Amino acid sequence: MDKEKILDVQDLTKEYQMGEVVVHALRGVNMELYAGEFVVILGPSGSGKSTILNIIGGIDTPTKGKVNYKGTEIGELDEKALTKYRREAIGFVFQFYNLVPNLTARENILLASELSDEAISVDDLLKEIELEDRGNHFPSQLSGGQQQRVAIARAVAKNPAILLCDEPTGALDVTTGIGALKVLRSFNRNYKKTVAIITHNKSIGDMADRVFYVKDGVIEKVVVNEHPMNPEEVNW
Ligand code: ADP
Ligand code: MG
Repeated sequence: MDKEKILDVQDLTKEYQMGEVVVHALRGVNMELYAGEFVVILGPSGSGKSTILNIIGGIDTPTKGKVNYKGTEIGELDEKALTKYRREAIGFVFQFYNLVPNLTARENILLASELSDEAISVDDLLKEIELEDRGNHFPSQLSGGQQQRVAIARAVAKNPAILLCDEPTGALDVTTGIGALKVLRSFNRNYKKTVAIITHNKSIGDMADRVFYVKDGVIEKVVVNEHPMNPEEVNW
């Protein structure tokens, strides 16, 4: 595995003041991500997984702690540089696709690719997600699994260094979920991009180079898989 460290997360805490009560969403999270690896973040609901990903992606800020991307502290960026970071370094995939409903699959992907000078071709992406004949369909004309593959292609189109996926198979059944995971895996292996997936499905952990176990706002343990499986090999 390529060992270039691209992301270094140090001692993240996140607290929410809810009236009189303080919610400790994160209690000191440390993790690092290496270029080209495929990691899974596992943990029960409410353990802080989304908060970690949102802070890494620059769409939320920590109460304390640092996120360093290739030598730059993202907490110290001005608004313009932070927007650039969100647009160019990071691609997000969410549970409920978040496609623009009145744009076709092709237009949804194109919209994202126009944010970057180093965009990946829309035709290549439609082929990669096996929807080359559905480019002119609107999201409502696609199945959930197909919509999620379009959403992944959209996140990939900008050619980001890191793809952050929050429960990407959460709304899909096993078969269509595997389809989405295959696309994430091929982006990871073929384009050598770092992929981080949040899930509470332990089986997805079998695909990962490393699995981070989150509990009560901390990373409890990190497990390295010497032989990560392909999506088809996993016992679902
Ligand atoms: P997960 O993604 O693992 O389910 P989250 O990161 O969404 O967990 O949430 C971690 C904790 O922070 C939970 O206790 C949640 O209720 C709390 N939390 C998240 N967002 C907010 C918010 N905007 N206001 C108050 N509490 C929040
Ligand atoms: Mg969550």
